[in-house]
Amino acid sequence: MQVFKFGGASIKDADAVKNVASILERFKNQPLVIIVSAMGKTTNALEEVVAAHMQQSGKANALLNVVKENHYALMRGLFAPEDSVFADVNDTFVEAEWMLDESPSNSYDYTYDQIICVGELVSSKIVSAYLNKIGLKTHWLDARDVVITDNTYREGWVNWDKTKPNALKIVPPLLESGGFVLTQGFIGSTTENFTTTLGREGSDYSAAIFSFCLDAESMTIWKDVPGVLNADPRLFENTLKLDRLSYREAIEMTYYGAQVIHPKTIKPLQNKSIPLYVKSFLDPEAPGTEISSDTEETYPPIIVVEKNQSLLHIITTDYSFVAEQHMARLFAELAGLRIFVNMMQNTAISFSICVPTIPERIESFVKGVSDEFKVKREDGLELITIRHFNEETVANLKKGKIVLFEEKIRNTLQMVVKTVPTIERRAVELERAKG
Ligand code: ADP
Ligand code: ASP
Ligand code: MG
Repeated sequence: MQVFKFGGASIKDADAVKNVASILERFKNQPLVIIVSAMGKTTNALEEVVAAHMQQSGKANALLNVVKENHYALMRGLFAPEDSVFADVNDTFVEAEWMLDESPSNSYDYTYDQIICVGELVSSKIVSAYLNKIGLKTHWLDARDVVITDNTYREGWVNWDKTKPNALKIVPPLLESGGFVLTQGFIGSTTENFTTTLGREGSDYSAAIFSFCLDAESMTIWKDVPGVLNADPRLFENTLKLDRLSYREAIEMTYYGAQVIHPKTIKPLQNKSIPLYVKSFLDPEAPGTEISSDTEETYPPIIVVEKNQSLLHIITTDYSFVAEQHMARLFAELAGLRIFVNMMQNTAISFSICVPTIPERIESFVKGVSDEFKVKREDGLELITIRHFNEETVANLKKGKIVLFEEKIRNTLQMVVKTVPTIERRAVELERAKG
C-alpha cells in the first residue's frame, strides 16, 4: 500500500478538490491511505477563533462563522444542496460552537487542540464525501482512533507502542474491503480521548506515522511546487529542483527550517527505508523529488532561511566563567520551556544563542535565570543555513545584511543576520528618535 498526503493548498477550493480527485482516479482499486490537512489557510483562521475565545473578546463566534461559510461555499461547488455531507460538516462545527459557549479552560494549548482539529475533521469529511460521490470508494477514518500521543497539547509526542497496533488493527481490513482510506493529518488523541495536535504543518508527519506503522511501499506528498527545491521559491529566483535527496540531506534541510516538509517526517521513513516522493499536484506526471537512499550525492548549494529569530546574549552577573554547570542550568531552563536553540556560541563570561522569537517563552526564560544571568535580546533576525556552500553563494546572501554571527561546520555554513535598514527606513527611524 501507499500513503498520499494532500496539504492545504491542494484542497483550497472546489476546483482544487476536483483536481485531487483526478489524481486519485489514476490509483483506483489500489490500496491507498490518504492524509489531508485543513483546507487552504483554515488553521490560521481557527487560531484566531481560539485567541478570541481565550481572550473572551466576543468575536470568536463571528470568526468561526467565516470559517464555516468558506467551507459551505466550497461544498456548494461540489455537492447538490440536499447532500448529507452538509449535515455531517455542520455537526462537526457545532462541536466547536459548544466549546465556544463554555468559559475557556486554564490551558491555552488544551483548548487550542480541541478547537483547531475542526479544520482537518471537516476537510477530510468533504474530500471523502466527494470521492465517494464520483465513484471512488473511500472509507473515512478518524485519525484520533489511530494516532495516540502524550498530553503535550500542540506538540503531542507519538506513543508508537499504542499507535502501531491501532493502525494495524483498523486500516488493513478497510483496505481489504476495497476503496481508499482517508484520514486527517495533524491530529491525534491522548489515552483519555482528548484531541492533541502534532505541531503546525504536522500533516506530513502524520503521513509518515501511517507509513511507518503500515509498512507502506512509499509515501507521496503532493505540493504546489515541482518537488524539493534548493531554496524557498517565495524568497529566491532561479531555484533548482533536486531530483534525488538522501534521507540525511532531507533531515538536515528540514531541521534548519526548509518549510517544504515537516522536520519530523523523515526519521520514521528512514527507519523503514520507505521512499518519500514530493510531487506537484499541478503536474502529477512529473517525477518530482525522490528522498530515499542513504548514499550522499553531490548537491548544489541548498539555502534555508528561517525568519523571526532572536539572539539572546546571556552574561553571568558575577563575572564567573560560563562553565558546564551554567550550561546545564541554561539548557534545563530552555528545554523546560520548549525553546529550541538554532545556533550557539560562547566566550569567557557570555553565551549567545539564536532561538525562534516566541515572546512568552523568551520572557519566562529571562525571568527564570535572572538570579544568575543578565540577558540582552535582539529580535527581528534571520537564520540563514547554507548546505554545500560556496563562496559566491555566501557573498550573495550577505548583500544588504549585517552578520551577527557565523559558523561553519564541514559543508554547512550558518549565519544570523539582520537586514541593513534602507535609507528611507533609516530616515523614519531618525524622525522617530527626534520625537
Ligand atoms: P502544504 O500545502 O502541503 O501544507 P506547504 O505550503 O506547507 O504545503 O509547503 C509547500 C511550500 O513550501 C511551497 O509552496 C514553497 O513555497 C515552500 N518551500 C519552502 N522551501 C522550499 C523548498 N526548499 N522547496 C520547495 N518548496 C519550498
Ligand atoms: N493544518 C495544519 C497547519 O496548517 C497542519 C498541516 O497543514 O500540516 O498547520
Ligand atoms: Mg503545510
